[in-house]
Amino acid sequence: MFVYSETYDQMKEDLSNEIQLLKTKGYHILTKKELIVGDLNIDKITIKSKKIAKNRLIFTTGLHGIEGYVGHSCLKSFFKDLLGSLRPDTEVIIYHGVNPFGMKNFRRTNENNIDLNRNFSKNNFQNTNEGFESLKDFFTPKVYKSTKIANLAYYGALVKLVSKYGIATLKDATLRGQKVSKEGLYYSGDTLQKSSEYILSELKNRVFQDINNVVWIDLHTGYGPRYQMSIVNSKNEKTSTNDMIEKIKYPRILGMNIDDFYEIDGDMLEMTYVIHKDLKAKCNLFSTCFEFGTIGDSTNNSITSLKAMVFENNSYFMEQTPKYDKYAHKLIKEQFLPSAEKWRIKAEKDFLQAMNGLIPYKEL
Ligand SMILES: [Zn+2]
Repeated sequence: MFVYSETYDQMKEDLSNEIQLLKTKGYHILTKKELIVGDLNIDKITIKSKKIAKNRLIFTTGLHGIEGYVGHSCLKSFFKDLLGSLRPDTEVIIYHGVNPFGMKNFRRTNENNIDLNRNFSKNNFQNTNEGFESLKDFFTPKVYKSTKIANLAYYGALVKLVSKYGIATLKDATLRGQKVSKEGLYYSGDTLQKSSEYILSELKNRVFQDINNVVWIDLHTGYGPRYQMSIVNSKNEKTSTNDMIEKIKYPRILGMNIDDFYEIDGDMLEMTYVIHKDLKAKCNLFSTCFEFGTIGDSTNNSITSLKAMVFENNSYFMEQTPKYDKYAHKLIKEQFLPSAEKWRIKAEKDFLQAMNGLIPYKEL
């Protein structure tokens, strides 16, 4: 069962304990800290292969800050149950806490309120999002006298927006990311962030060097059904999802081009393929995303999920009552790191099942 660290500092301490333990077991491990903001950093951990590396398994956690607590739990399960069974020519690289500010502050976004998974722009932030204009006011942080008033205002405004524009337009306008509202949700920014620059430099200079086979797993929470982790492949993945479901024996694998995923600029995994192509890298690449659903995927669930983010954002940018802040904090935690035991047991089981399928399939 996944057990979360209570705080960012505890998690980082736990990480260094885990690394020490692996070292005592004989693993050769290199660590590096990449400073991002203040004294907060991304931890790069390289677990060297026992023989000359042919395969490289990469994990990224906390691209969406708060989601990195579940990501950290995945890594602990990986160290405990899977690392020992990898081939001797498989090297592991972990980028722990790609968005350390969000991780520390239990936010999705970084120190500039930017959604880093919309920041890896392929076209220098040229995309526009006209649909967001009509939603701008809804997503602008406001002060509320009580949680009751805030709830009434939220549902009232949402009903109006849905009846006027329809749920599909709303979804599209939010998923695309936006550049117009710095304090709003889904802000992509219009410049590369430090975290993104670092990952890009790793991609350009290290990830595809001296290796035959690269598998990249980006760990997320929040999307999909509550009790079934989804493997969400890039639109660059050539193998059909049905074939992959059969081969790795995992029930829920999705392609990026399915209904729910619109043409999005700034996605990190898509960028791994862009750079792989630009470099004319000879190695194979499989980049995918593990998405642990939390609230659920019905329309009602989406409304609840969105509420958690709107309330947390209001709480972050405006001075609210202590009761409101507490309420918003609780909502955001349930949205991205569910407390229920049943969820934490199933999440670990799904992670292990997916990895136990992927490891032989990708010959790691
Ligand atoms: Zn995410």
